[in-house]
Amino acid sequence: MPLWRAARQPAALLRAPRSGAAAAAAAGRRRHIAGPELVPHAELWGAPVPDGPGSANLDWASLGFDYVPTNGHVRYVWKDGQWDSGRSLRDPYIPVHILGNVFHYGQALFEGFKVFHTRNGTVCAFADNMNHERMGHGCRRFRIPEVPWSLWKKAVDDVIRANVAFVPPYGSGGALYVRPFIFGSGPRLGLGPSPEYTFVVFVNPVGSYYKTGQLEALDALVNTEYDRAAPLGCGDCKAAGNYAADLESMHMAKSRGFPISLYLDAREQRYVEEFNTSNFVAITKDGKYITPQAPRSVLPSNTNRVLRQLAADLGITVEQRPIDFEAEVDSFAEVGAVGTAVVVTPIRSFTRGDRKWTFGEPKVLKQLLDAVRGIQDGEAEDRHSLMRRLDLVPEKRGTMLSIYPGL
Ligand SMILES: *Cc1c(COP(=O)(O)O)cnc(C)c1O
Repeated sequence: MPLWRAARQPAALLRAPRSGAAAAAAAGRRRHIAGPELVPHAELWGAPVPDGPGSANLDWASLGFDYVPTNGHVRYVWKDGQWDSGRSLRDPYIPVHILGNVFHYGQALFEGFKVFHTRNGTVCAFADNMNHERMGHGCRRFRIPEVPWSLWKKAVDDVIRANVAFVPPYGSGGALYVRPFIFGSGPRLGLGPSPEYTFVVFVNPVGSYYKTGQLEALDALVNTEYDRAAPLGCGDCKAAGNYAADLESMHMAKSRGFPISLYLDAREQRYVEEFNTSNFVAITKDGKYITPQAPRSVLPSNTNRVLRQLAADLGITVEQRPIDFEAEVDSFAEVGAVGTAVVVTPIRSFTRGDRKWTFGEPKVLKQLLDAVRGIQDGEAEDRHSLMRRLDLVPEKRGTMLSIYPGL
């Protein structure tokens, strides 16, 4: 039997898993996902697309962080106090009422995490329980109904199952980036919570940032013209508006030749907060891992949380505390910007006015990056249970079901 059949079956159907010994034997033969045989969904890219991680046959090596059409997304709607049962949709457009709260009052939150095809052939989400927790925090802050974990998990599992072909294969260095987001979608003229909310999870394959195996260091500007977050504001939420507010500031830094900028605290412009869309970490000359403590204005990065844990595992002292930029910058041996997209981007220098500070090679940060990548690739032991193996077996075993009931 060919490994993957050509895409001739009707789109959007899943074949039920084979049972017992046959399934086990098949699983042994292939290093792809165990579980059901997925009947190919679509003929994309002008060629038949079989299923299994990597089977969309994209040019994985040249993927960046750009939009790639996939097999679709999942969408849930909250109304009258409850979530509906959700739909899977191929069309990447959403009709939203013109009075949707999101357009006028910006009631919207997003999340981002990655899914990996591991050395063992499994498909795993990296710590998406932390993203769920963080979105819940934002929902409470923005008067948005929370998404229960069971719904989140089902939405993620369903969208990955439909798009497993787009999970970059083990060894390519890429990942399937998952973007859940939630927004007020119902009509509301005066300011108030929306009568309806929409929760969407979509995926986008992304490439490796480390094509040459080298970390590319960036020169950073210390931003003295804009604040990112107010001391008691909503900088700790992944709220859409925080990012719109950063665009002009990012543009200003870029126009001066700085691809990234560092925000200090809004009250005194003294304490380190974070970069545009990533947390600040420094390794001090005496070998400590330091990162700011600013619970209401710094976005709690999951990557930072994981790195703190892995640093502690390596015996490194971890300090989460206020960091006085001017007083401490000379004690930094390595500086990194940390977040899901790149894990760690080394910072080569900081410029503030006419002063400039430069830092050394990222040695400890590289070691931490390798530790994270090892877990994500399934090559290192996952001591903290960060990887959630995705359930790629359809719920209704033994039946044929459409994964696109909305079509
Ligand atoms: C998303 C984000 C981060 C990184 O968070 P991760 O969970 O590590 O991806 C850091 N800072 C800001 C402002 C962010 O929006």
